[in-house]
Amino acid sequence: MRWTWALLLTLAVAPRADAQFRTRARSSPRPNIIFIFTDDHAVNAISAYGGRYNQTPHLDRIAREGMLFKSAFVTNAICGPSRATVLTGQFGHLNGVPTNNDSLHPTTLTFPKLLRAAGYQTGLIGKWHLWTRPEGFDHFEILRDQGTYYNPLFYRPTDTVTVEGYTTDIITDRALAWIEQRDTQKPFLLMFQHKAPHRPWDPGPNHLDQDRQRYFPEAYSLFDDYATRGRPAREQEMMIGRHLNDRDLKFTPPPELSPTQLERWNRTYDPLNAAFRDSALTDSALVRWKFQRYLGDYLRTVQSVDDNVGRLLNYLDDTGLAQNTIVIYSSDQGFFLGEHGWFDKRFMYEESMRTPLMIRWPGVVQPGTVSDDLVQNLDYAETMLEMAGVGVPAAMQGRSLVPLLRGQRPADWRNALYYQYYEYPGWHMVRRHYGVRTNRFKLIHFYEIDEWELYDLNRDPHELNNVYALPDYKRTVYSMKRRLTQLREQYKVPAVDAVPYAPREGR
Ligand code: CA
Repeated sequence: MRWTWALLLTLAVAPRADAQFRTRARSSPRPNIIFIFTDDHAVNAISAYGGRYNQTPHLDRIAREGMLFKSAFVTNAICGPSRATVLTGQFGHLNGVPTNNDSLHPTTLTFPKLLRAAGYQTGLIGKWHLWTRPEGFDHFEILRDQGTYYNPLFYRPTDTVTVEGYTTDIITDRALAWIEQRDTQKPFLLMFQHKAPHRPWDPGPNHLDQDRQRYFPEAYSLFDDYATRGRPAREQEMMIGRHLNDRDLKFTPPPELSPTQLERWNRTYDPLNAAFRDSALTDSALVRWKFQRYLGDYLRTVQSVDDNVGRLLNYLDDTGLAQNTIVIYSSDQGFFLGEHGWFDKRFMYEESMRTPLMIRWPGVVQPGTVSDDLVQNLDYAETMLEMAGVGVPAAMQGRSLVPLLRGQRPADWRNALYYQYYEYPGWHMVRRHYGVRTNRFKLIHFYEIDEWELYDLNRDPHELNNVYALPDYKRTVYSMKRRLTQLREQYKVPAVDAVPYAPREGR
């Protein structure tokens, strides 16, 4: 019966006619799956990844009791496209969401639809950001657009509701309430998707005063001069020194605060802002101050995520659900925490292309294991389908991580990743580019302006030295270009860019 439904669904809504199923035997009982997804969470802000800024004990627990993926990356480091890739297992040029301006078509084949057809209860709580009404969910409560950090408004299947409080806490309240009301005879998928730590990094009431006297070590390339690199790195608009606005820097409070919340907020920021104005900082001292303000608030929002992941893990322990519930933690992409002088993401450089991925699966994943294999958000749909014993449509372009999770690395696991970013002109003015990353090298082509960059990641892990034009790397450039061509063919990337060049709204 399950198969029939899944097959009918695929035939009805598959983006292409060649969708078929690869079969796999299913184990029993089927596990619950909780997919925790944050927005813009850099691995450098998770202590399990060796981040030097903060302690995230609850996130670290997922790694300690499961597997941490050191080399997890995205196909396109921007919110909507990453979310669409997670749902569809396809690159943006096929799933219809290559930029944040594109909406996910309601008939698109997604893994929650397949899990639901296979008997899973499916819930989506938190950020959606794909514009159209979510399909494939028994229940959803989604933030409007990007959402706000305080007093969020949720769209639900038949109404809207505004809840007073801090959004990271509230999303957790509502996610736990959804688990509570489920049919305990059926397995469930919960997509538990936070707004945090997305811009404008408004800390929660529990963390407003955290680490206010602390000095955060500066990013190694806060004052990058972009020597060896071309126009894209120089012309972007995401500099900590120049492009953070008054909301980002907390010179103005969140507009949605209640009088009580505003009073509490001002008690923290008013004296700090007054001291800043008195100091009359300029030039590099001003950039340094902005870095401290930006990074501190970013980390404070992460701390609320960690608190709430702890609440969820404790709930699973207390209810006995932990044993048969897979917990996945990831983000829609990474973030620059001052590297190259930047905030934001978009570039194929490591800090934004890399994303956290930690998976706890009791009885299957050996606790405390680490994978260094190249994996991508392209693989998440296939992975969750296989976890549930549901066949993976051939139209999906990634590969299930279940063999890696079982400690059985396939000999033919991928050795290169494809990436493409399309949103130019647009927010932060990062040029369109595509590229290939292997374990050792990264080749990037800014194709509108035909500029190339090559990084030797072993010698230059921070990507400060573009070696594309150096004679020593001539053979590497040749082989990486061949690999790039192969990947573009493999993933069916059209030769002509499908995204129009007219300026569009977005973020
Ligand atoms: Ca994001």
